[in-house]
This record gives sequence, structure tokens and C-alpha cells, in this order.
Amino acid sequence: MAEVNVETSQGTPGVAAGGETVVMKFGGTSVAGPEDLKRAAARIVAERERGNKVVAVLSARGKTTDELLTMAGEISDRPSPREMDMLLSTGERISCALCAMAIWDLGHQAISLTGSQAGIVTDSSHTKARIVDVRAGRIEQALDRGDIVLVAGFQGVSTDSKDVTTLGRGGSDTTAVALAAALGASVCEIYTDVAGVFTADPRLVPAARKLVQISFEEMLEMSASGAGVLQLRSVEYARNHGVRIHCRSSFEEGTGTLVVAEEETMENPFVTAVTHSSDEARVTLAGVRNEPGMAGRIFTALADANVNVDVIIQNEPVSTSHGADLSFTVGRNDLATAVEAIEAVDVSAAEEILTDDKIGKVSIVGAGMRSHPGVAAKVFKVLGDEGINIEMISTSPIKISCVIAADRVPDAVRALHDSFDLGDDAIHYEDSTGEHKARAGSR
Ligand code: ADP
Ligand code: ASP
Ligand code: MG
Repeated sequence: MAEVNVETSQGTPGVAAGGETVVMKFGGTSVAGPEDLKRAAARIVAERERGNKVVAVLSARGKTTDELLTMAGEISDRPSPREMDMLLSTGERISCALCAMAIWDLGHQAISLTGSQAGIVTDSSHTKARIVDVRAGRIEQALDRGDIVLVAGFQGVSTDSKDVTTLGRGGSDTTAVALAAALGASVCEIYTDVAGVFTADPRLVPAARKLVQISFEEMLEMSASGAGVLQLRSVEYARNHGVRIHCRSSFEEGTGTLVVAEEETMENPFVTAVTHSSDEARVTLAGVRNEPGMAGRIFTALADANVNVDVIIQNEPVSTSHGADLSFTVGRNDLATAVEAIEAVDVSAAEEILTDDKIGKVSIVGAGMRSHPGVAAKVFKVLGDEGINIEMISTSPIKISCVIAADRVPDAVRALHDSFDLGDDAIHYEDSTGEHKARAGSR
């Protein structure tokens, strides 16, 4: 028996009390070494011993997925996407088989399943597949037998091609949420290496504060703008299927963060969090032919190449004899594909294609921003005072993003987190009269 002490978490918000189906997901750090894996197994068993049916979704151990990507890169500059998925999907299988062994040693029945065996059906878009169906019959049978079911995260099978697919980086979160929806689980527990969702990445901002709850809308914006703690698609899936996500630490007890509908949130700060990403790239098309349909053709080509485009800016030509300038950002890994896709549209679409692969982005997110003007002005001033040049700006009703040089991202995040007073000792709630209580929060 592993000597891992796991206290019960009964009474914690979002935790099933017994007789329910619970989905628990453990990320890479949470299953990295043998002791971590046994700790996860003990947590899973504790949940089973509370009388719940338990499905655990596991990620690949530690840096396994990165190592597999490096291996592929050592063999080929352009690995076949199908074979990439065959390779990448192995990491999660290792975790699940080992965890099942640990659970048997703890005196419980366990069965590990690949994504395909678990009924995770996807489209055929290799390395970025979307879940289109969950056929959970085999899992349900195993649960009815009393087994604990371990499901390899991040993968599925395409019914069209019958091939193994993967769901994009961080995709085990989406496996877990999709299973929670299909099984009618009372909660989807995401166990990770931080205590929950914070007001900024706690690795970059040690003073960041853990949020007790956050709305789906805000979490979607956070995930979309770089908070990798929950994969964007997992949050979308949870919102669309009404799944309760409970994000918490696998290393310590604690209440974690609940992702809930906006009506349920008790906090109503105008700025909730600062997010960032440092792995973006910008493409600028200078002198784009100024005729109807050009943007449509360019972005259709990017969509067909499965490239996610983020911030887009187009300037009117200075005169009729000039072309327009069009800039947009993409994930750095997609840069080569994006440029190829545009060149394939029409080589004369633009006079010049310029790229910058050292682009980062800093964003602030907050539902209260809708009703508080002046937040954008404050963001720009804070960055200006730090001597950080804003290269592109995009906004949504609850988010302001600035594209900046990648190497200035940490300074920008800390300056914004400080200026909006998001840290541990800050008061930033509206009181019942709607009056804002942030000390440095007025704009
Ligand atoms: P896992 O392997 O468990 O899926 P991830 O590395 O995908 O873990 O996500 C957890 C990491 O997300 C944390 O270690 C943290 O550095 C990062 N992170 C970024 N932004 C946030 C945030 N706002 N709150 C919490 N964690 C964040
Ligand atoms: N192992 C995959 C990754 O590193 C999926 C996951 O951990 O969610 O992206
Ligand atoms: Mg993750």
C-alpha cells in the first residue's frame, strides 16, 4: 500500500458527497514521478471509498508530450500529422496503465482505457481534433461493475478515418469535461500543480490571488488569452453542457476555484485577472490588393489550413495607388503554415509578407468592465509608464488585449496586476450599492 495521506475533501464546494459519478483529471506534473502517480491513485481511491463512481482522466507524465514532440522534430521537419498523433497519444496511455496498477495495489478494481476505447469520437483534424461525440457505454459498464476507470486524456478516434487523433495542447481538460457531460457527473475536478485559477499566472506574479469562483465568460476569455490552467475548449464544452468545473491542487487540500454561470458569481470586480502569452507571431501583409474579397480569401485559406488567427488589424490604403496593410497574430507554431497558406492563395495578394516571431500579448479580463469606462485608458497608461510599446490592440466587452514584444510580457503582467490592485491584500468588490471598492481601481 502506498503511504500517501489524503484527507477527505467532503464539504468542499463542488465535491460529490457519495453515490454520484465524479470525473477527476490529473495533469502532467500531478503524475510526473512514481510518488506523484501514487498520490493521484490514492486521491482517486479516496473518492471511490466515499461511495462515488470514479472516472479519472490522466495527462502524460511530466514533460513527456514535449519530449515526444522533440523526438519527432529530430526525425523530420514536417512530421505527418497522423503519425504525430500516433506518437503523442502514447504518453497518456503510460500514465493510465501505471495508475491502474497503483489502484489495484490499493485494493480496488481498475481498468485503463485509451481515448478510442473510452468512446471519445472526434473529427479528423490531426493534432487539433474536436470531440464530436462521446460513446460512454464501455465506461458505464465498467463503473457498474465497480471498477475505477482511467481514461487516457488528450486523444480520441476519428470515425471517418478510424485514426487516433489528439485534441491540442492541454486537451486532457477537454476529455475530462466531455466525459463529465456524457456521464452526467456532478462535478469535473481538474487537479493541477497550482491551487486553482489565480488573478495572474502565480509563477510570474507570486502575489497573485486565488479566485474562489469565476464565471464561464471570464474563464473563456482568460483561457483564450493564455491562461493555460484550463484549455479553452474545455471551458467552452463545460459552458455548453452545463458542467461544473472545480480546479484545484493535486498536492494539497484546498477549496480551489469553481467555474460557474455568471448569475452564480458572488464577486463582481471590474478587473478579475491579467493573462499573458509569450508564444505568438505576427504576420503583416504590406500592400494588399485593394479589392473586395481579398480579406475573405486570405482568412479562408488560413481557416482551411486550421490556423487560429487572433488579433487582426487592417489599415485603409493611404491613397488609391497604394495597397492596404493587414496584420494578424497566430500561434508561433502555426507561423510557417500561415505564410504558406497565404502564398498559396495568390502570390500577388500582397507586395510583401513580413513576419515577427517574438510577439507576446498581455490582457486584462473582467466582467465588470462592461459597465466601467476607462479601463482601456488605464491599461495603455500603465504600459506606457513602463516604457512598453503597444503594437496592436484588440478588445471584447470583457477583455482588453495588447500585443507587445515577447520579452516585455513579464514586466507588463506585473505592472498591470499591481496597478489594478489584484494581489492578495486588495479589496476589489462592488458593494450592494454598486459602488466600487478597489483602492487603486478608479479610472
Ligand atoms: P496541468 O499539467 O495540470 O494540465 P498546466 O501546466 O496545463 O497544468 O496548467 C497549470 C499552469 O497554468 C500553472 O502551473 C500556471 O503556471 C499556469 N497558469 C497560467 N495562468 C494561470 C492562472 N491565471 N491561474 C493559475 N494558473 C495559471
Ligand atoms: N499531454 C498533453 C499536453 O501536454 C495534454 C494535456 O496534458 O492536457 O498538452
Ligand atoms: Mg493543462
